[in-house]
Amino acid sequence: MTNCCTCFSESETNKKDFEVVKIEKTKNVCPMCEDFAKEQIENKKPIAVLSCEGACLRGEIARQAANIICFKLSPEKTSRICLGGAFTKNTGQRNLVRSTPKVLALEGCFIKCSSRMMKGVIDELNPEIVVVDTLCDFDKKLFAINDLAEEKIRELATNAANKIVEKYLAV
Ligand code: SF4
Repeated sequence: MTNCCTCFSESETNKKDFEVVKIEKTKNVCPMCEDFAKEQIENKKPIAVLSCEGACLRGEIARQAANIICFKLSPEKTSRICLGGAFTKNTGQRNLVRSTPKVLALEGCFIKCSSRMMKGVIDELNPEIVVVDTLCDFDKKLFAINDLAEEKIRELATNAANKIVEKYLAV
């Protein structure tokens, strides 16, 4: 596979190293987020969708594709996960990831942040990973969100979302 980012990466090796992260606990609870997660669990949707929520063009395309899938193309089958909530708190969003039969991680790039984050807090997690960048045709030297017009980003995200639904959500 060709690396799409211009940034440097560790080569894919079989050896796994781990970084231990200390997350400060909070007693704060967002009731809307907890209600949303509870409702998704009760509706027994078969697929939980994680995404890179990143600040770059690739992260933005993945984020928009995840939203298009979960709220437009296949809302009856998919739950859109709040990655920050699921990663930093052992409450509703993490339970939703844990209890959903299939987890689909839409990664902006080969850093694969969303799946690596969630695997850090749910040992047994085995998400299906889609590197959305590889589904999109744009100048791969671009990095920032403002390097492409909003309409073009939306078009790339929509195309990627359609491809993902066809490949991963078709019954
Ligand atoms: S992880 Fe990759 S896609 Fe996500 S914001 Fe960072 S560089 Fe962009």
